[in-house]
Amino acid sequence: MSATEPTSSDHDHGGCAPVTLWGNPVLRKRCTPVTVFDGEVQRLVDQLFETMYAIPTGVGLAANQIGRTERVFVFDCRDGLAAAVVNPTVTVLDADLQEGGEGCLSLPGMGLITTRALRCRVTGQDATGAEIAYEGEGLRARCFQHETDHLNGKLYIDLHPTKVRKRLEDEMRAAEWFGEPALDPTSESYRRAQGDDEDGDEDEGADEV
Ligand SMILES: [Zn+2]
Repeated sequence: MSATEPTSSDHDHGGCAPVTLWGNPVLRKRCTPVTVFDGEVQRLVDQLFETMYAIPTGVGLAANQIGRTERVFVFDCRDGLAAAVVNPTVTVLDADLQEGGEGCLSLPGMGLITTRALRCRVTGQDATGAEIAYEGEGLRARCFQHETDHLNGKLYIDLHPTKVRKRLEDEMRAAEWFGEPALDPTSESYRRAQGDDEDGDEDEGADEV
């Protein structure tokens, strides 16, 4: 997911991976639970962080957004908490909803006002296999839902009526990046893709994840 305003980070982006783009079948894949907690999980987490932080608006990233199929995501909504969640389960905490701009780093330049639960909890494991639980409200809660959806092969556009989704899909098919399975997030092409919708009517300052 990505935020409205670019955020800064001190991270070195050397280990970042290409970001998979809409049309790449890996984004429709139901990812696989992690059962072995070895150095490979930590390497995946490190690469997810590097890639997310390479994108100024990035606030969350799921494994299949860098072409991997483990149930792992990372988040940093720039509210003081950054973490990785392995094998996440989201529990909605109450009936309150939020409406807000939502975008996705795999659907660059696009965004839709999307309804989500206002508050939720995510439980799972960290990179070492230890049990973790985080609560979120607002953007962080949106991010937990968006990233966990990714790991089930689901995208935020699926939450919209067919007519709205189809219109966005048509826009994406016409985009310069369409047909590319993935793009280096530090490349000019990716930056251009993110800016594609500057004159669009759907991007209400989307948070991209
Ligand atoms: Zn996303």
